[in-house]
Amino acid sequence: MMQKGGTDVNLMDMTALALAKKIRAGEVSAPEAARAALEQIKRLEGTVHAYVTVDEEGALKQAEEVQKKIEAGELTGPLAGVPAAIKDNMCTKGLLTTCSSRILENFVPTYTAQAVENLEAAGVVVLGKTNMDEFAMGSTTETSAYGVTRNPWNPEHVPGGSSGGSCAAVAANECSFALGSDTGGSIRQPSSFCGVTGIKPTYGTVSRYGLIAYGSSLDQIGPVAKDVSDCAAILEVIASWDRKDSTSIKRDDCDFTSALTDDVKGMKIGIPRDYLGSGLDVEVKQAILAAAEVLREKGAEVEEFDLSLVEYAIPAYYTIASAEASSNLSRFDGIKYGYRAKEYEGLHQMYKKSRSEGFGPEVKRRIMLGSFVLSSGYYDAYYLKALRTKALIKQAFDRAFAKYDVILGPAAPATAPKLGESLSNPLQMYLGDIYTISANLAGIPGISVPCGRDSKGLPIGLQLLGDCFQEKKIIRAAYSFECSRTYEAPALAGKAVE
Ligand code: GLN
Repeated sequence: MMQKGGTDVNLMDMTALALAKKIRAGEVSAPEAARAALEQIKRLEGTVHAYVTVDEEGALKQAEEVQKKIEAGELTGPLAGVPAAIKDNMCTKGLLTTCSSRILENFVPTYTAQAVENLEAAGVVVLGKTNMDEFAMGSTTETSAYGVTRNPWNPEHVPGGSSGGSCAAVAANECSFALGSDTGGSIRQPSSFCGVTGIKPTYGTVSRYGLIAYGSSLDQIGPVAKDVSDCAAILEVIASWDRKDSTSIKRDDCDFTSALTDDVKGMKIGIPRDYLGSGLDVEVKQAILAAAEVLREKGAEVEEFDLSLVEYAIPAYYTIASAEASSNLSRFDGIKYGYRAKEYEGLHQMYKKSRSEGFGPEVKRRIMLGSFVLSSGYYDAYYLKALRTKALIKQAFDRAFAKYDVILGPAAPATAPKLGESLSNPLQMYLGDIYTISANLAGIPGISVPCGRDSKGLPIGLQLLGDCFQEKKIIRAAYSFECSRTYEAPALAGKAVE
């Protein structure tokens, strides 16, 4: 369908792999694809606000260069020419990188995050930077200093968070795919709220170089896309061993697309009984159990089991993540980068005023919590205890994965809440992370795939967890499940097509 100005908006309906195929075949050019994305952004940003920065000029220039390389046969990969969006906590050389915080309102990095470099080397065109909860702390994208992002399925609802901008941009066809980061669920939960697919890989699979740290021992970058095949292909490109990240791992099993087979015969799938109790929305529960049934019918062996320790994941996570955040965020002092208070007396007051004015309330809460649990009188009681709990949670997963290939459950206890409903009760918001955070504590991979919608029409996400380095198992199960469904886009994404 042609739009005013001759851009084919249906290019943005396609998966990244399908669009790249058309580009390789010479049916569409990379600049045409970038223009289609930019048109869609212009049309919908007033409603969705998925981006903090759109780099129109840079994207078109990059697209021209990529096109030349494709024509010269220098770029032949499966994603070459496709336009993508990057969460605003990944450094991009010469392009504003704010972490959705006022304290980085003017930060233009001098280097690019390794994961983004890998994408660019594969011919992916960067459209801009997506909105997020400030410093990735939050579950709704409402803690951004640059305004809220709205859920493309219903603009009165949040897109989830913290990678809400990335997930909303994918759902609204404002990019072909996006990168997010996941410290406690920030890829999987907003993917579930926005009806798209997202993977958090095994810790160490994707380099964290250039990812502005929140909880360094938990943070991982991962793909957000329309389907499992796109996610597998993107992960294959961004995964790399990197000398610049001492926690990055050398893996020789990153051929994730080889797991895209519609076959779960004999696969052992466990559903933690502890995930299905009180607190789980009835409609979400029904959708999850129906998804399990699909996999059972396809030949998987599905049973319920007791994972244990589930209730300890939230306190352990918020203790560890805040402790690491309080240390990581000490670098934002008004001197090295970003915002500095206009008026102050002396160095101490400059620090104090810059940080007080530059950070929002949720970030301050985490810094205070983190400093408290690390302080000498409380270190053993809170921080060390949380680390021990983390070790026990990992052991519980080890026991489960001795028996099961994949653990199946919801990505979130409910569908997307309305805007404005969550921030007044932070504890309640933290409890919403119950199904996602233990994967970060254990370092294991997880995927969220759409598995239906509730009676309000809001998407529900199915979460599949695998043992460390077993991305292929969750990709295979997710792909197999997805083969039984068709991708649904929100009406808004195609509205302009009328
Ligand atoms: N909601 C969680 C938090 O606020 C997870 C965020 C994330 O994964 N970045 O910490």
